[in-house]
Amino acid sequence: MSDRTTDPGARSWIPVDDASDFPIQNLPYGAFLRDGEPRLGVAIGEHILDLRALAENGLLDGACDPALLTRPSLNPFLASGRAAWRAVRERLFDLLREGGDVGLRARDASAFFVARASATMDVPMQVGDYVDFYSSIEHATNLGKIFRPDGEALMPNWRWMPIGYHGRSGTIVIDGTPVRRPNGQRKAPDAAEPSFGPTRMLDIEVEVGFVTGPANAPGSPIPAGDAREHVFGLCIVNDWSARDIQAWEYVPLGPFLGKSFATTVSPWIVTLDALEPFRVAGPAQEPPPLDYLRVPGDWNYEVALDVELTTAAGASKRISQTNYRFMYWNIAQQLAHATVNGAVARPGDLFASGTISGPTRESLGSLIELTWRGRDPIELPDGEQRTFLDDGDTVAIHGRCEAQGARAIGFGSARGTIAG
Ligand code: MN
Repeated sequence: MSDRTTDPGARSWIPVDDASDFPIQNLPYGAFLRDGEPRLGVAIGEHILDLRALAENGLLDGACDPALLTRPSLNPFLASGRAAWRAVRERLFDLLREGGDVGLRARDASAFFVARASATMDVPMQVGDYVDFYSSIEHATNLGKIFRPDGEALMPNWRWMPIGYHGRSGTIVIDGTPVRRPNGQRKAPDAAEPSFGPTRMLDIEVEVGFVTGPANAPGSPIPAGDAREHVFGLCIVNDWSARDIQAWEYVPLGPFLGKSFATTVSPWIVTLDALEPFRVAGPAQEPPPLDYLRVPGDWNYEVALDVELTTAAGASKRISQTNYRFMYWNIAQQLAHATVNGAVARPGDLFASGTISGPTRESLGSLIELTWRGRDPIELPDGEQRTFLDDGDTVAIHGRCEAQGARAIGFGSARGTIAG
């Protein structure tokens, strides 16, 4: 189905650089502080369009209930469902398009736009529940080899269902928030007893998450084929992980304190409508999934992910280039599985993919894989080495979508600096 809002020929009357993540084809949602309070906004070029100002000036009338976009959080709009999401996207596209509705262009720009570069961003939704999957077959295989060198790398259940765990929504933080090095129990494989103290194996996990809209009723699973009615959009996620704490605690119930201390998200939620030109087929699934995990069509997305490490001394290196398209289990399957027992997915819930690793050395999405648990240190341009993160290190994950016949769009970055 052709969609004028992703037409690569469309241009905004606001100048947007070709390299920008935020042309008119994107229109992602975020929250920024204005007069000390969070407001919802949409990124366009170097600017943020203030949705509350639009709503209060009647410029969203007829597209949705304007009150949905005057709140400090996206949750009411997420709950309103796909018809409203679609209508607001069409309206924003018309207001910003060269040759479109002049209702916004005729107004005083300072009332409606703020500079993106100087804005303080916030997590745009209240995340009630946070799930982290483990859906990259390359990552699961690598971690299996590292943590269980004498066993089967992939557990027998892995190819039958999207494995996941429930994470901690209270420590989901926005791009740029410092990450404090966590304390915990650490035990080397050859040590007799654990010790307590700061993690010595602080790691990243390069992930993409999806944010949900209207809730299902308790006891009513979301069929995989209905995912488009329930998934609003995607963001970049860095699921910071303390590998020594994780290795000691994870049997038998899975990750706990090794991952719940901080999870960074990018400031912009890119909608599935904007991502439509970047849908791609996923890898072949063998054995064929059970019926409730079967879904027609392409459900993977082409999102190139660049990971840059910068030390306190200023040395900088791109340590990974991976892609969300590598995921074995897709978002429709993940959401169907997460609710198949009758569990509820509410507006604003976050479901992260799990670490995204590709088939090559350059496309691994965590330091434990890139350095093979510290065996192969990363060389930095100034001669320093890294196995895991040092205090003062900054990691930035940037996501961008490119495809033939489409205007490229992006997510901005999910960054964090390690505080001791
Ligand atoms: Mn993870």
